[in-house]
Amino acid sequence: MDMEEAGPADAALAAARSAFARLVSVVDGGGLDHLDDAGLLGFWQQLEELRNQLPVVEHRLIRDAQARDLASVYCTGRLSRLMTSMLRISGGEAARRVRAADQLGDRTSMLGEPVPPVRPALAAAQRAGEVNPEQVDIICRGLARVDRVGYDPATIAAGEASLTGHARAFGPADLQTCVNRFVDTLEPDGSRPEEELQADRRMVELRQLRDGSWRGELRLTGAAGAKLQAVLGPLAKPRISTGVTAAGRPVEELDPRTYPQRMHDALEDACDRLLRSGSLPDSGGTPATVIVTLKVNDLINRTGCGTTSDGTRLSTAAVLRLAEQAEVIPAVLNDAGAVLALGRAKRIATKEQTLALYARDGGCSFPGCGQRPEWCERHHIIAWADDGPTDLTNLTLVCRYHHHQFWSRGWTCRINDDGLPEWTPPRHVDRHQRPLINQRILTAHGGYGTAA
Ligand SMILES: [Zn+2]
Repeated sequence: MDMEEAGPADAALAAARSAFARLVSVVDGGGLDHLDDAGLLGFWQQLEELRNQLPVVEHRLIRDAQARDLASVYCTGRLSRLMTSMLRISGGEAARRVRAADQLGDRTSMLGEPVPPVRPALAAAQRAGEVNPEQVDIICRGLARVDRVGYDPATIAAGEASLTGHARAFGPADLQTCVNRFVDTLEPDGSRPEEELQADRRMVELRQLRDGSWRGELRLTGAAGAKLQAVLGPLAKPRISTGVTAAGRPVEELDPRTYPQRMHDALEDACDRLLRSGSLPDSGGTPATVIVTLKVNDLINRTGCGTTSDGTRLSTAAVLRLAEQAEVIPAVLNDAGAVLALGRAKRIATKEQTLALYARDGGCSFPGCGQRPEWCERHHIIAWADDGPTDLTNLTLVCRYHHHQFWSRGWTCRINDDGLPEWTPPRHVDRHQRPLINQRILTAHGGYGTAA
């Protein structure tokens, strides 16, 4: 180290420390005793001013550390991380000090000329010891919310001066109120900075977890959020399943799903509709074909997971549900990985069969459900994995909600002797488990009552 260059700063710091040591020794030796009450408080306030001035030196240190890129030299990535280990302070405290240095520290232009601080009034108050670091942070954070494109810089500067004045009189809580009031009353100059800011921050992140599920985070612009809400809102409404037993007793089951669960299902529903609409660029108007591979033992035991060609894992139960959609071709592997069976076109309902299903069921066939046919899935009453045929005697339309819910809630379905889908409720719904037919289907086929 070049001792000559380090000399003046080291000597000044040593002098400050010895002056401070003298202060400690005077106070320890009863130096406060002669002060009256007002004098004691006045002394205390002066000490606080000294404390408030210390960041002036530290801001210069932070500036120099940034200029020397010490974060890279010491491989910590960020200066605040270097500070946490070197000064043994929290990450939050380190970040606050760096933030204050950025706003209050003297700057240097590209040409090496001195440039005043970003917040000159606040910096001057700090140099005079009139504001403390907590107050500085409150004002800097507040001004950052409005110091953007679309706001008049002169108004921001006036606000800084006025808030610095408040900081000389108010503690952090009241100062925060002043800052909030200033920010709230500040009107943008009309160039729509809020939209610009939202656009800068827009993001959707999704990642798959080890168990095959997904987690994500999103931050939407006002416009995108409103559209998503408009799409999901109607789809996420609670479903109430109603029917009438043979005895004429109305049966009603409330939607057991929570609101977040309903929003999830609505999102999936929206994706399905979009995929089926054929309007996505990749599918080019024809449904994408997904090949899912799964092990034969998992298929037999309904355990484990299948894998799509892009590596997405799906539970075997989910594969079986998907297999009833035209878009998925399941490939069954033996333990050695050889393909035992590939779902073939004959397992998939043809266009004619689908139209016949539309004509017969006219929508979800679950009793009481009015979901339209184009929003429904084809349900194999006997699953294809159990050799259920793909023809009208083994197919019915059900909406996604009932497709996923009916089995776990104890309902079963069959095609009756009239060729209509009829549903048998669980015992807790009807003790006699009398089968029900969707009233819409009965009416369309000339039936009036309920199934025998
Ligand atoms: Zn339904």
